[in-house]
Amino acid sequence: MSERIFGKPIITQVEMQRRIKELGRRISIDYEGKDLLVVGVLKGAFAFFADLIRAIRLPVRVDFIMVSSYGVKSKSAGRVKVISDLTADIAGQDVLIVEDIVDSGLTVNSLKKNLLSRRPKSLRFCALLDKQERRKIDVVIDYVGFKIPNKYVVGYGLDYQDKYRNLPYIAVLENVDEE
Ligand code: 5GP
Repeated sequence: MSERIFGKPIITQVEMQRRIKELGRRISIDYEGKDLLVVGVLKGAFAFFADLIRAIRLPVRVDFIMVSSYGVKSKSAGRVKVISDLTADIAGQDVLIVEDIVDSGLTVNSLKKNLLSRRPKSLRFCALLDKQERRKIDVVIDYVGFKIPNKYVVGYGLDYQDKYRNLPYIAVLENVDEE
């Protein structure tokens, strides 16, 4: 694959850190006095997750779940498979799921069904990015970092063919064929 040149960041590091602090503050208020479990959805959410939990001023616990949704050609698989599951039971717990980006909504919808069957006390979703235009299923995202246009983005955890996750900002990757 040839090297790609990115345009300007559509979300800079400074903008991201400011917004994450706000999200952290809101989550800290909403879950005050509760025993919160924050779950990162791998791999895409890892960078956002690490910054978000440090902006939450509560003694949270963390866990991770890895799901497959997009293949190497960045096409939606349409169905979400759990590749690596949570390490503990979530029954009776307040759970906040942290996603990188919500696109069609299939991943969140499928995760929600899966996790609700485990009977948590509460289940909410937080996503750094929201591409509302591409929604196929109506899903409720309780905490959204940024609404973005219908472009394929990389960086800050988000990949193209498993690369570019280490870009410290969000950039648009041109000429990517999404379905
Ligand atoms: P959904 O199931 O909502 O269609 O897709 C969610 C998943 O698709 C995200 O967790 C992410 O892995 C991937 N995805 C959707 N849009 C983008 C994008 O613009 N860039 C990258 N890197 N991944 C995306």
